[in-house]
Amino acid sequence: MPIEADPSAYDFAITMLADAKVLVSFWKPVLLLAPLAAWGWFVSSIMDKHATRFHLPRKKWNLIHLIVATFALVLAFMLPVPGLGGFFAGFGAITIILFADIMIFMSLHNRDERVPEDHQLRLDFSAMAEKRDAKKFAKQAGTVQLKIVSEGGETAAVPEKETAEYEIRAQAEISLIQAVELRASRFEIGPLGGDKGYAITATIDGVKQGVEQLPAPDAVKLIDFWKSTAGLDVKDRRRRQRGEVTASKGDIWHHEVRMDTIGSQAGPKLTFTFNPTQAVTRKFEDVGFFESQEKTLDEIRAIDGGLMLIAAAPGNGLTTSTYALIGKHDPYTSIVQTVEIDVQAPIEGVMQNKFDPTGDAEYATTVRSILRRDPDVVGVTDFRDPDTAKEIVRADLKRSKVYLAVKADNSIVAIQTLVKHQGNPEECAEALIGVSAQKLARRLCSNCRVPYAPDAGLLKKLGLPADKVKQLFKKGGQVLIKNKPEICPMCAGSGYFGQVAFIEVFPIDKPERKMIKEQNWNGLRGEFRKRQLPTVQQAGLRRVVEGATSLEEFSRVTAAPAKPKAKITATKPAAKPAARPKAGA
Ligand SMILES: [Zn+2]
Repeated sequence: MPIEADPSAYDFAITMLADAKVLVSFWKPVLLLAPLAAWGWFVSSIMDKHATRFHLPRKKWNLIHLIVATFALVLAFMLPVPGLGGFFAGFGAITIILFADIMIFMSLHNRDERVPEDHQLRLDFSAMAEKRDAKKFAKQAGTVQLKIVSEGGETAAVPEKETAEYEIRAQAEISLIQAVELRASRFEIGPLGGDKGYAITATIDGVKQGVEQLPAPDAVKLIDFWKSTAGLDVKDRRRRQRGEVTASKGDIWHHEVRMDTIGSQAGPKLTFTFNPTQAVTRKFEDVGFFESQEKTLDEIRAIDGGLMLIAAAPGNGLTTSTYALIGKHDPYTSIVQTVEIDVQAPIEGVMQNKFDPTGDAEYATTVRSILRRDPDVVGVTDFRDPDTAKEIVRADLKRSKVYLAVKADNSIVAIQTLVKHQGNPEECAEALIGVSAQKLARRLCSNCRVPYAPDAGLLKKLGLPADKVKQLFKKGGQVLIKNKPEICPMCAGSGYFGQVAFIEVFPIDKPERKMIKEQNWNGLRGEFRKRQLPTVQQAGLRRVVEGATSLEEFSRVTAAPAKPKAKITATKPAAKPAARPKAGA
């Protein structure tokens, strides 16, 4: 009997073929298998491991999973819904069934006594949210947040996102923001030498601290970025260059940032100085002299002519005090000038002559030519060479008063330095009318400093009256907020905020001149003592008793041996003065 084709069966077959065609188009089976793959990963990497770990019937569960998966797959492919609808129905079915399998396993798993509570399985969306937040934060940490404007008023363009330039910009901003948050006055990216890479250091309240270490290529990228932003020659990695930018973070802060760069064998170095002008500009009254010292300085100022030495070790406010003393002279009734290698800030009404160390002129010659114009007051901020000392002492000091800044630890060392380089103690003694010296200590944070009753023996050792000094302060760093100790928000836990100066000021008159002529330094010290004016040490102790600083800080600052820091080049420098100026302090 011939087999006749059943027309309805034929139609059915055609439909099936058409459906198969839909399925055969390559992405649909792939999509249908996607939920299966996800489920497979979850079963094998999480559920099976848990089953093993907590001794659940693992084999039984795997069999159940296998059956459920097969059922889901068969159902998905066999659903009698034609066309695209069939595909979605299949996709939905496979997803629901596999999801149900997971949920049932989890629910039974969590109810099993063998599974400890903190190991229960959860479809934890909060963890996912946490991860997302962390990712977002990481992204934000690497975003451009600052507005950086060059000296010429040009705003640095923000590079395209997800480019190397953008990454560098974001990194550069992170270190600058960090420095601002640390209240750094200076901030440096410099080589550690050898193959140790680079370090970022910050000077906070006058103390240099390490912030982080960087591999050399990363550091050089940051340096190059800032150089180009400040309009400096990026390719020139040797020469000393200076630029300035202003950086602002929204309305939160706005800072002028001076950038000094120089290269060495080890690689380029970049120093940031925050608000450089503000940093060295202080009114005479705000320098930190005692009232009696202000009076002494007033008397010295009233003398016609004469030489006054201002001494401090680098980083101890030498420029600030020099500017304040010069600025105290009225520039409208007298002619006031300066000779400076590194003009740090303008002084109102004062003609500041910048000396170019790379030029042909010699420093001493420049000083002489200015002194010859007979100004009333001359500030010489750099004691560079013996010739400078000779020119100053030789000048008509009856007509001009000279303030000479000396990098020295105390008054005696400053005078010794002058005598040594000028060579004639008599002439030096006749020229001198006064000397000051100072050291800077960190000021205790008034928000978190801790009072204590000092030990009587210790007070005696320091020469302080035990019956008068009942309380001293030490650094805290923490404050109580709702009875819980927390990091002090003012000083960020360092215990210090700002600086305080320990200053000595001595007039130089006949008795002192006699000692200087004889180079009798102990005798000079004795004459100073007779005047009963505070020395740096005594000024420091007074600041400790006032609670402005701690004994610990006093010791740190004053204990250092008084080593003469004055760096003076040889008597007759070669044809040209050595072109290595010291950055002003
Ligand atoms: Zn504090």
